[in-house]
Amino acid sequence: MNKRLGYAPCWLGAAIIGMSLVGTTFAADDQPTVTFQDAATHQQRVAESAKTVDYGMLPSHTARKWVDRATKFAASTYPLTQSGKATGKNEQDVNLIYDPAKIWHAEKEGKATGPSFLTGTPTDSAASASALGSGSKTYNSSINKSDASTDQRSFDFVAIPQLAKQYGKITGTVTTVPLSHATPAGLGGAHNLSRGNYAEIANEMYTRGTLDLVFGAGHPMYDDSSRDITDPEKRNYNYVGGKETWELLKSGKHSNGWKLIETKADFEKLADGSLLMDEAFAHVTKLTGVPFVASTLQQGRTGARGVQTDAEVPAPYAVPMNTNVPDETTMIIGALNFLQKRSKEAGNVGFYVMLEGGAVDWAAHANQKPRIVEEIQAHQKATVAVLEWLEKNDLLKETLVISTADHETGLVWGPESDKFAFDPIRDVNGDGVADFRFNSGGHSNSLVPFWVWGGNEVLFQGMTIKTDPEMGALYGPEYTRYLDNTDVFRLSSRAITDSRSGIRNVIVLIGDGMGLNAIGASNSVK
Ligand SMILES: [Zn+2]
Repeated sequence: MNKRLGYAPCWLGAAIIGMSLVGTTFAADDQPTVTFQDAATHQQRVAESAKTVDYGMLPSHTARKWVDRATKFAASTYPLTQSGKATGKNEQDVNLIYDPAKIWHAEKEGKATGPSFLTGTPTDSAASASALGSGSKTYNSSINKSDASTDQRSFDFVAIPQLAKQYGKITGTVTTVPLSHATPAGLGGAHNLSRGNYAEIANEMYTRGTLDLVFGAGHPMYDDSSRDITDPEKRNYNYVGGKETWELLKSGKHSNGWKLIETKADFEKLADGSLLMDEAFAHVTKLTGVPFVASTLQQGRTGARGVQTDAEVPAPYAVPMNTNVPDETTMIIGALNFLQKRSKEAGNVGFYVMLEGGAVDWAAHANQKPRIVEEIQAHQKATVAVLEWLEKNDLLKETLVISTADHETGLVWGPESDKFAFDPIRDVNGDGVADFRFNSGGHSNSLVPFWVWGGNEVLFQGMTIKTDPEMGALYGPEYTRYLDNTDVFRLSSRAITDSRSGIRNVIVLIGDGMGLNAIGASNSVK
């Protein structure tokens, strides 16, 4: 692991984090004991929560139109195995499969066992990105590699961008965390036995020929507060493929023809369209963007506190934001402008792009309440901007948009969830803001939201839809039905390969670690 990183989100889960940076978090297997609330109180709180908390992937008060137009499900995210490396067996560990019977009413000797089931059986972001990107479950830490073999002979899954490329489309990935992190790697069609091999993954993204656009953090010359790293020893080139790759990108001499942009001004000019009018841009076919920040646009900036109570913590946005970097929306709209230009130039071939709000997960790992709100709101704002961009460019009808999370992080539940299992989030003190707490520093196996815009019934033919009535009771009837994360690949690949779908472009939005309770809490912060 790189020394400059204080911790490694999603990497080995809570264990590492508990030991290092974030003293206030706790390992997933070290949960306080929770019991069930008496039924009447619980019912009353569920009803109160359902009535007052908005669990929409997008908040109704700012995005009503898009909320109404979405087809809504929940989704399961469990991995094939929790082994951190290939086992050679390729068998589903049945103990990890999401099962309502093991969650809502499960107890042993008077203690609720659902919360520990959820924190004990999660995916990491690599296995989930592989499942989302290639439709196949695999072991935690795998980037589109099968569990069937324990070495490099392990076969590679075919990911959505590879399929899109075979069908002549323009492809890209955008993230607010390092460009070679698990989610962009998996949904960007990279392949590696281990997600930790950032430099190898970045180089595959730059050289395999799958991708035309790669945007993300990971700048070697800047820290998380966007300040210069003056000590050359402390510069981390791994996220961008190593020093040699970085120098080729900087000098414009990368053999695959990548053009690099870095400044906030360039991202803004890409988003407003002016950069693409520039002569120097006329022949750019491959574009990478690495803003002036080490690992996240905003989440890692100074002034965060990983604590449970609101009392001593600055409110969301109270700590000055990094001003030397574009925001998530700017990066994403800029990327869409480039992809659409290239698509048009190639004869309206269409595009595929993965757009990730990656640091929701990092804030949740660190149990940072204000920062998880900031990160969720940034991703929601970007999602709305994507839909409006599609509408403005008259592309809504021919574009499939899927918005989901790769897993939940932090086992976020209501204010008394350390005592009572599944205590719903709710406004306790009447300030209009839903109260919540983190019950883990790691991931959970909770269902996540899965919203879809565009496409027709062709896409959903033959899809397995399961049900969990407790989800509906808590979060609204649309969340009674759930798909699986592998269905992101099924829908996307069908959209790309079956002309009856009427789809030309595929956009997959991922809120990393963005669970329903954190979303509900964030939606109440106006
Ligand atoms: Zn994570």
